[in-house]
Amino acid sequence: MNKNQGLHRIVIVGGGAGGLELATRLGRTLGRKKQADILLIDARMTHIWKPLLHEVAAGSLNSYSDELNYLAQASWNHFRFQPGTMNGLNRKEKTITLASTTDTSNTPLLPERTIEYDTLVIAVGSHTNDFNTPGAQENCLFLDSREQAERIHQHLISRSMKITEQEDADTTTNIAIIGAGATGVELAAELHHAAQLMSRYGLKSDVGNTRITLLEGGNRVLPALPERISKGVQLQLDRIGIHTMTGTLVSQINKDNLETRDGKNIETDVTIWAAGIKGPQFLQNLDGLETNKINQLLVHPTLQTTQDDNIFSLGDCASCTITQKNGTSFTVPPRAQAAHQQASLLTKNIKRRLQQQELLSFEYRDHGSLISLSSHSAVGNLMGNLTGSVMLEGWLARMFYLSLYRLHQIALYGFWRTGMLMVKDLLERSTTPKLKLH
Ligand SMILES: Cc1cc2nc3c(=O)[nH]c(=O)nc-3n(C[C@H](O)[C@H](O)[C@H](O)COP(=O)(O)OP(=O)(O)OC[C@H]3O[C@@H](n4cnc5c(N)ncnc54)[C@H](O)[C@@H]3O)c2cc1C
Repeated sequence: MNKNQGLHRIVIVGGGAGGLELATRLGRTLGRKKQADILLIDARMTHIWKPLLHEVAAGSLNSYSDELNYLAQASWNHFRFQPGTMNGLNRKEKTITLASTTDTSNTPLLPERTIEYDTLVIAVGSHTNDFNTPGAQENCLFLDSREQAERIHQHLISRSMKITEQEDADTTTNIAIIGAGATGVELAAELHHAAQLMSRYGLKSDVGNTRITLLEGGNRVLPALPERISKGVQLQLDRIGIHTMTGTLVSQINKDNLETRDGKNIETDVTIWAAGIKGPQFLQNLDGLETNKINQLLVHPTLQTTQDDNIFSLGDCASCTITQKNGTSFTVPPRAQAAHQQASLLTKNIKRRLQQQELLSFEYRDHGSLISLSSHSAVGNLMGNLTGSVMLEGWLARMFYLSLYRLHQIALYGFWRTGMLMVKDLLERSTTPKLKLH
């Protein structure tokens, strides 16, 4: 039974970079003081910060040691958690529907359920957009969830095991990564590093045996980031021997090769799709809420959906256009730092809503972009009010990159526990293999 009956019901669907921070902040304030009933719903039982997925795919991070259990987080932070996958909305009745669930052996676990809300926040994130490229679904691996990242890792380990046992020392693993945005570039560098490490542990997957090709439709790597960063990253990729093909659109993906629009045929053993994002399909027909072409919900700068003031949305599944003082406008990019900032604003706005105060508008502060090139380096820029844009490279950039995850941890666990987790990570690193080998 819900002990918070009679309180304002805040339902947050999606416990990712944005939704989980929001539930935690609201729980610590409104939930703790019994001023609202906060319910977080997620399709999974545990959270892992998505920007870590390329490290899980390469095996340089054991996802189990970095995941957070929603039930535990809820009990520590005065909110409730229910597992479930949202698939419907009734705005008149103010209810959402969760699909029935089964356990891992496909035995029915929970029936279809209806959940009532007074304020609803949709924070269900995004997944990769394959732009309906023929063969992509059948022949590509994706990097949207821990399971998918682990599938990539398993695939690479199995292949290394297989070629280690073969007599022919020249067997090469051809890895094609489609999309040289931040995800594709970071994954390429991480896989390159993993190949180096595998050979240390006796597997035949040395850099010489692994050919990584990054394919990008735009005319440079990292087309969405400033050209200076793109140039810096391209230099590093060239240095470590990652082959890049820019201005190349993939037209068909087959089991052992891929075809490009300009007629090239590239041999592949593993193809990973890392280009583009779109919101989950169910958002497209959600009781009249407005969406754009990539299924993102259109929201006002207050983060309220354009058709319903009781429903908010944040993070990758929301499209928020901001008009600046100089009259120009831009759409908030789908990034962890945007989801983090929106969670902070929504914490304030939901409290203001309960006190019938006017809501605040979201102002996106771009703190810069850092691209991790595994242990090789990191490249990027930091933006500050006083300093403007400062270009960083190497060790210092890598330290700033690592601090992004620590900031997410601080939002979830607070300073002291994050400090203890850092010590635990240091100890773990000195006592376990540098690569997950199973
Ligand atoms: C490999 C990779 C690397 C990245 N690197 C960076 C980086 O370096 N810097 C950066 O700023 N950004 C990075 N990003 C982007 C960043 O991860 C996202 O912008 C951010 O996670 C978005 O947060 P979110 O809360 O909107 O969604 P998510 O973090 O994706 O969370 C969505 C949550 O909703 C749940 N969910 C989905 N559908 C349903 C449903 N129907 N019902 C219930 N629950 C549901 C999911 O289980 C998930 O927990 C990266 C992304 C990837 C994939």
